[in-house]
Amino acid sequence: MKRICIFCGSSPGTRPAYAKAAMELGRTLVETGIDLVYGGAGVGLMGILARSVLDAGGRVTGVIPRLLAEKEVACTRLEDLRIVESMHERKALMAELSNGFIALPGGIGTIEEFVEVLTWLQLGIHGKPCGILNVDGYYDRLLGFFDHMVEEGFIRSENRDAILVDADPALLLMKMSLYSPPKVDKAAWALELSNA
Ligand code: AMP
Repeated sequence: MKRICIFCGSSPGTRPAYAKAAMELGRTLVETGIDLVYGGAGVGLMGILARSVLDAGGRVTGVIPRLLAEKEVACTRLEDLRIVESMHERKALMAELSNGFIALPGGIGTIEEFVEVLTWLQLGIHGKPCGILNVDGYYDRLLGFFDHMVEEGFIRSENRDAILVDADPALLLMKMSLYSPPKVDKAAWALELSNA
């Protein structure tokens, strides 16, 4: 994996564990020779993550919509900051540049971005690994909800199992490097169930 896109909060969260995990993930990326792609902000966990990669000597590409950059929230230390016109363009470019995706703790924006790449994975639009860094069990309830979706017949278990999870950055990256996408056609499955 050459580049990984990381989605995370534009806020730091209440627990020190979140910032600590962002710093550790940043350092681990650099040790593993992986470049960071992220949303380009200097605030919250996003800023903490980018600075930890830069401080460790790694490479960072930020992708930020003009409106957000103009509000002076772009990280000022980035050599590679791509300014785009919309959130849709931002997500498309981040996905195109990256060989995998990780969600650190975050809010609505983080979930939206991560769930979009999961949707594209289950539709076969890409076959890149999608991992959750489950810091202090932050994502336990979301993972439980994914299980509920399987139980209720809205997600195939193969697609649920494709979501890689670990609390340790190095172990998560290892799982991602060994990943191969599920051979499940979600669209055909939905049609099959509808016709049953
Ligand atoms: P959230 O998880 O809601 O904090 O949002 C994180 C995502 O929302 C980021 O990846 C950005 O796409 C976007 N976002 C929200 N606020 C900002 C901000 N102040 N600067 C840059 N991006 C932001």
